[in-house]
Amino acid sequence: MCGIVGYTGFQDAYQVVINGLRRLEYRGYDSAGVVLEQPHHFDVAKTKGKVDDLVAISKDFVGRAHVGMGHTRWATHGVPSDNNSHPHLSNNGKIALVHNGIIENYDVLKIMLTEKGFTFKSETDTEVLVNLIQYFMDTHPEMDFPTAVRSALNEVYGAYAITVLHDDFPGVLVVARLGSPLAIGLGNNEYFIASDASPFVEFTKEAVYLEEGHMATISLEKGVDIRNIKDNVKITPQIQELKLSLEQIEKGGYEHFMLKEIFEQPKSILDTLRGRLLVDEGIIKMAGIWDHLERINQAQKITIIACGTSWHAGLIGEYLIEEFARIPVEVEYASEFRYRNPIITEKDIVIAISQSGETADTMAAIKMAKEKGAFIYGICNVVDSSIARITDAGSYTHAGPEIGVASTKAFTAQLTILALIALKLGKHNGHLSNQEFMRLITELDTIPQKVEEVLEGTHQITKEIARKFVDAQNFLYLGRGYNFPAALEGALKLKEISYIHAEGYPAAEMKHGPIALIDENMPIVIIAPKQGHYDKIVSNVQEIKARKGKVIAVVNRGDTQVADMADYVIEFPETSECFSPIVASVPLQLLAYYIAVFRGANVDQPRNLAKSVTVE
Ligand code: GLU
Repeated sequence: MCGIVGYTGFQDAYQVVINGLRRLEYRGYDSAGVVLEQPHHFDVAKTKGKVDDLVAISKDFVGRAHVGMGHTRWATHGVPSDNNSHPHLSNNGKIALVHNGIIENYDVLKIMLTEKGFTFKSETDTEVLVNLIQYFMDTHPEMDFPTAVRSALNEVYGAYAITVLHDDFPGVLVVARLGSPLAIGLGNNEYFIASDASPFVEFTKEAVYLEEGHMATISLEKGVDIRNIKDNVKITPQIQELKLSLEQIEKGGYEHFMLKEIFEQPKSILDTLRGRLLVDEGIIKMAGIWDHLERINQAQKITIIACGTSWHAGLIGEYLIEEFARIPVEVEYASEFRYRNPIITEKDIVIAISQSGETADTMAAIKMAKEKGAFIYGICNVVDSSIARITDAGSYTHAGPEIGVASTKAFTAQLTILALIALKLGKHNGHLSNQEFMRLITELDTIPQKVEEVLEGTHQITKEIARKFVDAQNFLYLGRGYNFPAALEGALKLKEISYIHAEGYPAAEMKHGPIALIDENMPIVIIAPKQGHYDKIVSNVQEIKARKGKVIAVVNRGDTQVADMADYVIEFPETSECFSPIVASVPLQLLAYYIAVFRGANVDQPRNLAKSVTVE
C-alpha cells in the first residue's frame, strides 16, 4: 500500500524523490508529500491528490537539497486531506517522519502525549509516532536520534515502514520496518530508500531489503547501520543484486500498464513454465516442491489461503489438485481463515497465494497455520517479499513486475503454477497415468501460444463489445467447472476498474436467484468452452435468452450452438478444460479494460484500491 522514497547523496533530492514517488504510484494512494532537509529547518509540501498535484505546489523545491524524502498516503486514520498527508513534523519542528502502515495503539499514546502538552494538527496515527520520538529526546537529553526512534518504536504496535529525519542530525536518515516493506538502495556516495526497488533501479543494482523488526541509520559518512529494534543488536546487511530493469517497469508504448500486462501474458506464462515444464524429457521440475513431494503427497488435506484475485486462482487450484492428485483441498479467504479456529494440523499443507507477497491478511494466516505445525508453500510474484521469506518452500510465478492495480498476468501465472503443482503431484502419487500426464503437459506447453492467439483474435472484438456496454449498471458472469472461478475473476476485474456492479456465479446457480435480475438490460458474460458441461451451458443460455438477457458468449473457435443464440461472441482456441480458464480469462480482462477506458476511469489506479494490500 502507498509508498515511501528517501534520498541522501549528491543528486537533487527533490527530483529523485518525485520521480521515485511516480514509480510507486501503482501502489494506489490518495495524497502525496515531500520534505527536504535545509540548514535548521525543513521545506515541506504536501497535498491531497496525486504526485502531479504535489509537483504543482512544490516546483520551486528543485535544486534545493541533497537530502529528502517523500510519501504517497493511503488513508487509514483520518480522511485524505492536506493536513493528514505526510510528512508529519514533531511539535518542535525538528523531526520529520513518513509512515506506511498503522500504529494500532496510537490512541493511548495520543492521550499520554496530550497530557504532556503535545498538540496535534492531523487525525493520523503517524503524527503520534513523530511526537513520541520528540518526547523521548525531550525527556532523555543524552539520547541520540536513532536511539530515540528505536525507543519510540518499542512503545508502538501495529505495522509500519518509516523514514525519519532530524534537524540536528543533518544527512542522517533513520528507517525501520515491521509489516510494511522497505528497501535501501546502495549507490556510489548516495543512498536511496523506497517501498520497493523501482524508484532507484536506474541508479543502482545493489539493495538491502530491511527485515521485519529491523531499523537502519543511514548517512554518507557512516554508511548503513542495521539494528534489531527490540534489543539494538547489530545486523550484517544482506546485499541483493537487483534483477529489475527500468524498461520492465515502464509502459513500453501501451496506454496503460494494465494493457501492457495483458499483452505480456504469452511471455509471462512462458516465463512461469520456463525450466519447469520439460516436455521432451516428460518431466516437471520444480525446485520448491521437489524436496517436499513426500510430505505434500501424504497431506491429509491442502488448504489454499489467499485474497482477491489470488483467491480465485486458489479455487481453480482446488479443481486442479483434486482432479489430478486426488488430495482434498479447501480454499479460504485469508481474512476469514485467520479469525476463526480452523482445523489445521502438522499433517496439513497450506498453500498461500499472493501476487505482492506482502498481503497482510495472508501473512497473518500463514503465521497462524505455521504455529499449528502445517507445512507452508508460497506462490508469490515478488521475489524476496515477506511471504516468500516466511514460507517453508514455494514457487515464484516469475510474471515480472505487475504495476496495474488490477491483476492480470500475475493471475494467469498463478494458474500456471497451480497446474504444474497439480500435475507434478498427480504424476508422483500415481493418480495420473504416464500417458495422461504426457497429454496434459504437451497441452500446457501450447498455452502461451494459445494466449497469443486469443489476444490477436479478440482484441478488436472485445473493444467493440465494450463500447456497447459503457453505460451498463450491472453485469453477470457465468461459468461452470473450471470456468466458474474464471467467471468470478471476470466480474471482479470489471468491478475493480470500471465501478460497474458485477457478480460471478456458477451457471447452474443462476436459477437459484440471479435469474430474477435478468431482463433486456442485463449483460451476461457466459464462458462456454466445448469441454466441460457444454450441453448444460447451452440450456443456461436458452434460459437467459427466454428472459431477453444480453448474452456475451466466450466460446471455442468455430462454436455454433451457443454462438448462434448469443448477442455477441468472443472466440478462444480450444484447450483441455483444466487449462481453459488461463486462455478464457484473457478476453475478460480486455473487456473490463476497455469498458473502464471508455468510461474514463483511471484504469491503472482504480479508486480506493491498492496494489499491495498491507493493511488488514
Ligand atoms: N496510517 C497512516 C495514515 O493514515 C499511514 C497510511 C499509509 O500507509 O499511507 O496517515
